Amino acid sequence: MYSDVVEIAKRRGFFWPSFSIYGGFSGLYDYGPLGVLLKDNIINKWKKAYLDEGAIFIDTPNITPGEVFDASGHLSRFSDIAAECDSCKSKFKIENVLAFNKIEIIPKSVDEALSISEKNNLKCPVCGNIIKKIYNYNLMFRLENSNFYLRPETAQGIFVNFKLLSNYYRGKLPMAVAQLGKGFRNEISPRQSLIRLREFSQGEVEVFFDPENEYWKDLFDYDEITLKPNTGVEYKTSIKNAFENRIIDNIAMAYFILKTQKILNDIGFKNDNIRFRQHDPDERAHYASDSWDAEARIDDDWVEIVGIANRTNYDLKNHDAKSSERMSLKINNRDVIPNVIEPSYGIDRITLALMVQSYHKNEKGYNVLSFKPEMAPYHFAVLPLIKKENFIKKSMEIYNMIMSIDSYVYYDETGSIGKRYSRQDEIGTPFCITIDYETLENDSVTVRFRDTGNQERIDKKDLLDYLSGKLK
Ligand code: AMP
Repeated sequence: MYSDVVEIAKRRGFFWPSFSIYGGFSGLYDYGPLGVLLKDNIINKWKKAYLDEGAIFIDTPNITPGEVFDASGHLSRFSDIAAECDSCKSKFKIENVLAFNKIEIIPKSVDEALSISEKNNLKCPVCGNIIKKIYNYNLMFRLENSNFYLRPETAQGIFVNFKLLSNYYRGKLPMAVAQLGKGFRNEISPRQSLIRLREFSQGEVEVFFDPENEYWKDLFDYDEITLKPNTGVEYKTSIKNAFENRIIDNIAMAYFILKTQKILNDIGFKNDNIRFRQHDPDERAHYASDSWDAEARIDDDWVEIVGIANRTNYDLKNHDAKSSERMSLKINNRDVIPNVIEPSYGIDRITLALMVQSYHKNEKGYNVLSFKPEMAPYHFAVLPLIKKENFIKKSMEIYNMIMSIDSYVYYDETGSIGKRYSRQDEIGTPFCITIDYETLENDSVTVRFRDTGNQERIDKKDLLDYLSGKLK
């Protein structure tokens, strides 16, 4: 299904590899006209969910001075262990070379990786040559002849502004600060279209709170959730049970896992296709004391689409120590440097996973993307049955009428009506409005549903109310 979706994405205008007229460069992707609309719909759901939470939003530069990443630990620790083949020059993450050589250990340092390599004669997955070159590979892009970097996460722009934001927010906690923006990572092996990019869109939220206050304890409900803790097997439970039994040991973490599930549901993910997996201790980022990933099913794999990390007060403490700003707040006569839970949403992976989960073939064998109606790039398509002046004129009248209540309306008059329905099914348009012979006689149209192919005849005077109802 993944490969079908990637093919549709390029042919129909969702996304495709960038700069392909110059040969293509892995890890860089363009969004086309439909992809931009779909991605915006996802972003809007994310944004609304956090506005409803009382979050505030900011927007800070992509270009960031080295001092920030020195304090945050990214200069020394935001790296992967790379393995490079001397013969074919391919570069891999060490995990991929070890998996190819059927070795299950994951090394924690370059020295450990080198000693595994010496004992096992690791073969290059591409050409079979023995790999000798293993080294630490920092994932940040540094701008030439400068001490500036492209940010690998949007989060630091929030941390460095903590004091200003807290003043704006009148010193209240919890305080959720969100930022939508680009993150840049010089990935060792960018691959699988939108899954591992060098430049990607993140919706990050830093939730600052006092760890001695259990703000969220009355907000849980019993919604079922699938958890895979690092100590055991995957199982379904409620988030309330998971917190009470200390499977998730932090109340803010539990609350934002649940919130993430609700946002993903609202976007259109079914619970059977998402789960929350806890990182193993040696898998966590350098700033995290605990992390749970929301993973989505893509074919037979589970892929991280949202990372939820307990960053403690690691970042604020380091900026407090290294910058000119003090990051503590006075709370009940205590000096508190707040703790942070960070739900970080990878917008590109969510877009791809949503397309894969929405994809199927109908009984005629044609492609369909069954997005929730409000998530589809276009909500409605207006189609004259035949390309004749009186049909086109009436279609334009209906098109303009629908446009007065909704801007996501497509007009198509080329090809047979069957082909045009299939085209709309393939891009996920839920409702096609057809102007036929009867329309010219009695001012009624047919409305066809993407998922069933069924049609209803509706009077023009009732059409707007009918369509707005359907969209909800
Ligand atoms: P992280 O900060 O690594 O937890 O990343 C947060 C989210 O960003 C992940 O859950 C992914 O959805 C997304 N993400 C991270 N790295 C990449 C990448 N190289 N390409 C696309 N999305 C990414």
